[in-house]
Amino acid sequence: MLGWLLRLLLLFLLVRAVMLVVGGLFRGLIESARVPTDDRAPGGGASGGPVARSQGTLVQDPVCGTYVLQERALSARAAGGGTAYFCSERCRSAYDAQAARPN
Ligand SMILES: [Zn+2]
Repeated sequence: MLGWLLRLLLLFLLVRAVMLVVGGLFRGLIESARVPTDDRAPGGGASGGPVARSQGTLVQDPVCGTYVLQERALSARAAGGGTAYFCSERCRSAYDAQAARPN
């Protein structure tokens, strides 16, 4: 009878320990994924570009039209003064080449 209780207690402690470890890992992953790569526009006004989601901010690659997570996207100064985001280095250099060329 006492052994049964002890086992229950051990199981409870084990579950708690696992939760702590998993929770800690998860938090660590989120924090490492949220390292600021670029200064966002000061003032923080929603200027229409990025679409806010609960899982992160989706931004559209202006070159190929793909939606990418902002924290994973490559960023560059846009011609209009904002920030443009790209899915890959290829799209970014294509955009740079296009921006450098006068219309
Ligand atoms: Zn792209």
